[in-house]
Amino acid sequence: MRTGELFDLLRDGRPWTRAQLAEVTGLARSTVTTRIDTLIRLGLVAPYGGARSTGGRPPALFALNPSAKLVVGVDIGATHARAALTDLDGKILGEADAQIEVAAGPEQVLGWVVDTVRDLVAASNRQITDLAAIGIGLPGPVEHSTGRPINPPIMPGWDRYDVPGHLRAVYPVPVLVDNDVNIMALGERRAHLRDVDDLVLIKVATGIGAGIVSGGVLQRGARGTAGDLGHVRVRRADDVLCRCGNTGCLEAVAAGPALAAAVREQGEDAKTGGDVVDLVRGGSLVAMAVVRQAGRDIGEVVASMTNLINPSVVVIGGQLAGAGEHLLAGIRESVYQRSLPLATEHLRIVTSRAGGEAAVLGASALAIEHVLSPDVVEAACEALAAADAAAEAARS
Ligand SMILES: [Zn+2]
Repeated sequence: MRTGELFDLLRDGRPWTRAQLAEVTGLARSTVTTRIDTLIRLGLVAPYGGARSTGGRPPALFALNPSAKLVVGVDIGATHARAALTDLDGKILGEADAQIEVAAGPEQVLGWVVDTVRDLVAASNRQITDLAAIGIGLPGPVEHSTGRPINPPIMPGWDRYDVPGHLRAVYPVPVLVDNDVNIMALGERRAHLRDVDDLVLIKVATGIGAGIVSGGVLQRGARGTAGDLGHVRVRRADDVLCRCGNTGCLEAVAAGPALAAAVREQGEDAKTGGDVVDLVRGGSLVAMAVVRQAGRDIGEVVASMTNLINPSVVVIGGQLAGAGEHLLAGIRESVYQRSLPLATEHLRIVTSRAGGEAAVLGASALAIEHVLSPDVVEAACEALAAADAAAEAARS
């Protein structure tokens, strides 16, 4: 077992003794001691303060040191941007936001990110050398391996733009980029569903998409398009044209613009999904019925998804989640009708609790997962050992 994997055990938030670590890993106590010393020198592990005496000498306890490094999580939306500075446990140390159009292009938007990272670190009285990684969510398809947006429909000028390269020219740290729905799923899980390994977050806004966590791992699929629920076919949309050029897409009947149109047809005034949510909250029976039907349509797809991947929690996020129970009731109706009883027995369908913070928390989680991954920690240990060897050679 490598030091990176030993460290992985210490990430559970509980304090460990050397003896416990030796027992679980099968490593000799002396080996554990050497490796813990290395992790302490890297700052990733610290002696744990809560040790209680058991009669003799209190056992030395160790745990992850969340304040060792900083990461910044960034959420770029269509018309807004938000950033959060966090420690390695995802605790928010500072936040910033701005009204900025993603359509203004990468130079302007990433210029804001560069300035904001510097300002947030300075305001926290830490050094920029404490910054370990940056995570970013973008409102379009992203090739995760390169961090480049691919043909993003609402992001002119961003197609295949080297987002990590732009930021690394200023901050020489890893930059992880993903689409907004995937990071919302990670953020909701980190903030409120840490013990849930199988969950789906569905964002219902101008479009509809899903972030899928299965077996504790975010599922991006072969080319990063997993979870594109908006263009799955539903019966009620058979004759409805979608913005993608096909007919029959879920988005064409159940996303914000479709709901606003349906409400207008029945004489109410609504331009956006947000207006529909306001009408629901104001008690409009027309808007309530429209939202409930959208819930049934979304539920038709969620039912298939439940049968395919058997999540234990389905979280509804995005603007339309503001319609609350009216949307959930429609979704539940379809899911319980169409999914297998065993799959729905313990299935929870809920609205997002992280809400507007889900995306920045998720972007931070993406960065933290990278920084604390066994491979990256192992590489840091090896670099430290090489530096020690070089110093030793220089002395002799
Ligand atoms: Zn479509």
